[in-house]
Amino acid sequence: MFPEIVYYIFGGVLSFLLALFSAYSLIEKKLRATVLSFVLLLVFGIGWIGGQYYFGYPPILQLILIAIVVIFGLLFFLPFSRQKIFDYGKTTEKVDERDTMFAREEYLSDTEKYDKYYAKHPELKTVDDRIRKLPPLLSPGSRYYDEFHSGLIQALFQTIGSLTTKVDGPVSSSRDEIDPVEMTEVIKKLTLHLGADEVGITKLNPMYVYSHVGRGPETWGKPIENNHKYAIVFTIEMDYGQVETAPRIGITEEAARQYLNASLISNALASAIREIGYPARAHISDSNYQIMLPPVAVEAGLGELGRFGYLISKKYGARVRLGGITTDLPLMPDKAIQFGVQSFCEICKKCSTNCPSGAILSNNRKAVRGINKWPLNVEKCLTYWRLIGTDCGLCMRVCPFSHPPTLLHNLVRVGINNSSFARHVSNFGDDLFYGKKLRGFSEE
Ligand code: SF4
Ligand code: SF4
Repeated sequence: MFPEIVYYIFGGVLSFLLALFSAYSLIEKKLRATVLSFVLLLVFGIGWIGGQYYFGYPPILQLILIAIVVIFGLLFFLPFSRQKIFDYGKTTEKVDERDTMFAREEYLSDTEKYDKYYAKHPELKTVDDRIRKLPPLLSPGSRYYDEFHSGLIQALFQTIGSLTTKVDGPVSSSRDEIDPVEMTEVIKKLTLHLGADEVGITKLNPMYVYSHVGRGPETWGKPIENNHKYAIVFTIEMDYGQVETAPRIGITEEAARQYLNASLISNALASAIREIGYPARAHISDSNYQIMLPPVAVEAGLGELGRFGYLISKKYGARVRLGGITTDLPLMPDKAIQFGVQSFCEICKKCSTNCPSGAILSNNRKAVRGINKWPLNVEKCLTYWRLIGTDCGLCMRVCPFSHPPTLLHNLVRVGINNSSFARHVSNFGDDLFYGKKLRGFSEE
């Protein structure tokens, strides 16, 4: 009887997992993964179960096959080689928002900003002039321009723009004593209730507050004074199907939709906190950020920074937009988390392979203002955006952490967190089932 019954149980469980993978892939509209996993299911079913049923493998062979599966499972899941705690380093200087690419592209020639900025930064004038000559995002002349959807996205950003003057306001003069533990729970529940998908809290690191205003309704070049003690940061999941349209306009529409949601949540939350007597300011898109959301989100325990420079959240991977507020409301900070992203990014490099503009490094990290990271070539990235007329997002689409958080993808994430073997196998598997490189999105 033994090991035959165990052999059949293993065969049943593995067939079930393969069938599940095939079904998930079909739902996710991943044709290659659906076909490959279905073929694997057939081959495995015939070889493992059919072979035993018709020919009856000798017990020693059954035991060897069971042992191979067990050893594979142990190597994949047991925490033999977790990612070493990664030290991003400490920021040594603040970023001036006027130097960000989104601010620079707005400096039109023959304006005061243009003259002032390039008098100080002549080395950026040629590259920025070249970018500004390209059609602006969502405008006719770019590759993926679509009259209706481009107009809709512009309308969404105009709505966000109307919210940029409502990020701060008067603080109620009546203030109750607050228990930080209870208030943290209330704030987190409220943020999720308002529509966020994940929320974290951190002490605000002053190095992540921009030094000067570069965009938005406030005076350009004004020094930013934000001495709030805490930041509340949240993610909103971007729709998987929309992200799969990258680099076409669907992903840009989804980004705009979630930026609008993030703006509404941030403004409502900040307003609610001011009502109970504590200062609070929302930081919203288009562009009224005083803080750099990705590193603040990392410190708030929402995820890790990927090779492409933005946040990979534990649950939704790269498919998120961020929102945040800063406040003096007494709260309990979360701890930063790590779940294998740094080690996996060292092997994977899929975003770099697929980036049509060559903006993402495929080699080692560098120190950028004291932070250990893979620097993004923002000029190359924005040039590609303006050529195609959308915000591209191919790097988000191909990232293995962007798969939906289904049972099987979550099991892979457990392995990636725990074992170097799993990281290599998962990287190979992702290329095999989903392809290494998407074709047809070159810069030409
Ligand atoms: S958005 Fe596109 S161009 Fe920019 S880094 Fe990602 S893949 Fe490259
Ligand atoms: S695609 Fe790969 S290398 Fe790039 S961020 Fe995602 S996991 Fe890291």
